[in-house]
Amino acid sequence: MNTKYIYVNTIGCQMNVYDSEQMIKVLKPLGYERTLSLETADLIIVNTCSIRKKAEQKAFSFLGRLPDLKKKKAGLIIGISGCVAQQEGKKILDRFPYVDIILGTHAIGRLPQLVNQIEKERCRIVDIKMSEEMEELECANRFHSGDVSSFVTIMQGCDNFCTYCVVPYVRGRERSRAPENIIQEICGLVASGTKEVTLLGQNVNSYGKKEGLCSFPELLGRVNDIEGLLRIRFTTSHPKDLSDELVYAFKDLEKVCGHFHLPVQCGSNRILKKMNRKYTRESYLERVDKLRQVRPDIAITSDMIVGFPGETRADFEETLDLIKKVEFDGLFAFIYSERPNAPASAFPDQIDLKEKKERLQKLLDLQEGFTKKKNEALVGKSEFVLVEGLSKKQNEPGSEDRLHDFQLTGRTSGNKIVNFVGDDTGVCGNDVFTGRIVNVRIEKAFAHSLWGKALKSDFPCHGLKGDATYAA
Ligand code: SF4
Repeated sequence: MNTKYIYVNTIGCQMNVYDSEQMIKVLKPLGYERTLSLETADLIIVNTCSIRKKAEQKAFSFLGRLPDLKKKKAGLIIGISGCVAQQEGKKILDRFPYVDIILGTHAIGRLPQLVNQIEKERCRIVDIKMSEEMEELECANRFHSGDVSSFVTIMQGCDNFCTYCVVPYVRGRERSRAPENIIQEICGLVASGTKEVTLLGQNVNSYGKKEGLCSFPELLGRVNDIEGLLRIRFTTSHPKDLSDELVYAFKDLEKVCGHFHLPVQCGSNRILKKMNRKYTRESYLERVDKLRQVRPDIAITSDMIVGFPGETRADFEETLDLIKKVEFDGLFAFIYSERPNAPASAFPDQIDLKEKKERLQKLLDLQEGFTKKKNEALVGKSEFVLVEGLSKKQNEPGSEDRLHDFQLTGRTSGNKIVNFVGDDTGVCGNDVFTGRIVNVRIEKAFAHSLWGKALKSDFPCHGLKGDATYAA
């Protein structure tokens, strides 16, 4: 079989990163291998996100760059997948006459069949059929990348209908995978070299409820028992579903990392109600307190939406006040963006863009201080870092946090990026460190990363220093 090449441009969240990997894997039996060059690709797919208008525009602008390639290469197949494909369907074929496949969010398993059909018939196909059940991509699960850190989807869709969000419309209702299938996939990943998994779902806290499967904390317990796996992360969690059982998992399960991404979106009860979030600022703050009581060093990050329709200055001040009370380790903050199908698009009192931008900047300035404070608090301490490989800074000689010619990178349990020197001699380097948890003394803090040096006691990287040490 001749090797053919697939280029995937992934826009959006980790779910999309995982879906892109699945697309590459399901096409392997047809002879497709991944390429990072558009010119060598026989199949180009842009995997899209529609959570904000900007992400949607990014996808369309990428498609707009492709007609010349299509003219140059007879037989090149161009596809669009993900949330924008699901939302816009056939309209995309009309707007981009050189696009061949519209692949909806429930259609990844059918991709090989569609590509086969297009290769034979040179037709154009729209597949945006949604299903009630979660599809198992058995074929994809036979191939593993061997990455140190891997994503694993445990559920898809959402039943929450936050008024600003399109996910329930483009990803469908909640569906969970059977725990056996999840465990089997993770065991396969671990056998190929994975040391850390991030369990993915739009709301992992409600995992299995609909199907009567085990609870999410029970699933975490089963993943925790997998031999050879060193770390577990998960995202995303809805604050209204954060049970005590899950809070205690951060203490009782030694592989669960000390980082929790808990999107709050806003600090005003009035706006939270309009967003249909079903919790209050008080209940959110109570959950944060409980988490910190149970695991004092836990890093907490969140998402914020600025300028939701009707947000007054007083509402915004309440958001700033909540940020001051929590002191997040990091925040992903966005200007509210109108989305088709999302009820908030029709709400009165849309906020002026200039005002939204000013509020966003004020919020980011406030958070920057807390991020810096949290990072600086780690200077002089030692942190266990799971090493992912050579730092990208290798190729950025001018950047402020590239301090050495031979720089490795990894993450702390609290999900902070640490760049560090393996060994001045270069003897104990990439091959030896990658995939291991190394004790690193933090020497400098930057805005988005830390700099450190592996402790001599770890040379030459003897044994695996797991986070079990944390629990002691
Ligand atoms: S919980 Fe709300 S914001 Fe999150 S995916 Fe569901 S509807 Fe969207």
